Amino acid sequence: MSQPRDFRLTDGTVIDHLPVGTAARALELLGLPREGPITVGINIPSPSQGRKDIVRVEGLFLEKPELDRLALLGKHLTVTIVHEGTISEKTVLDVPERLIGILTCRNPTCVTNAEEVQTVFFKQEGYPYRFKCEYCERITEPGEAL
Ligand SMILES: [Zn+2]
Repeated sequence: MSQPRDFRLTDGTVIDHLPVGTAARALELLGLPREGPITVGINIPSPSQGRKDIVRVEGLFLEKPELDRLALLGKHLTVTIVHEGTISEKTVLDVPERLIGILTCRNPTCVTNAEEVQTVFFKQEGYPYRFKCEYCERITEPGEAL
């Protein structure tokens, strides 16, 4: 029998530079596992950030709302799309200025919790990210967001 090779993607997505401890949250946000193999690296040495988590998912291609959600996990996450074993696209994720329909307002009296209104949040200056609800102006603090 031959030795098992390192798991490499044929067609799928690599989510890299996740802050340590967020790989499991990333899987949860993406509703994984679905079909296809997944490899998860936790506490991997990284020249740029000391340690990081990394997730590789065969057969996964993300849509914009999923990418916006993932971006909330940390700064400068990298998403790499692999086709036929080679890298076809590499994107550094950034949290958009406006998050539409992604966060839930924690203010129980906010209109978005009483009616069928899509939430809109504005990113505030600085990191960790804070977001202001367009309707009630309540600030969502880091750690409350996801
Ligand atoms: Zn609100």
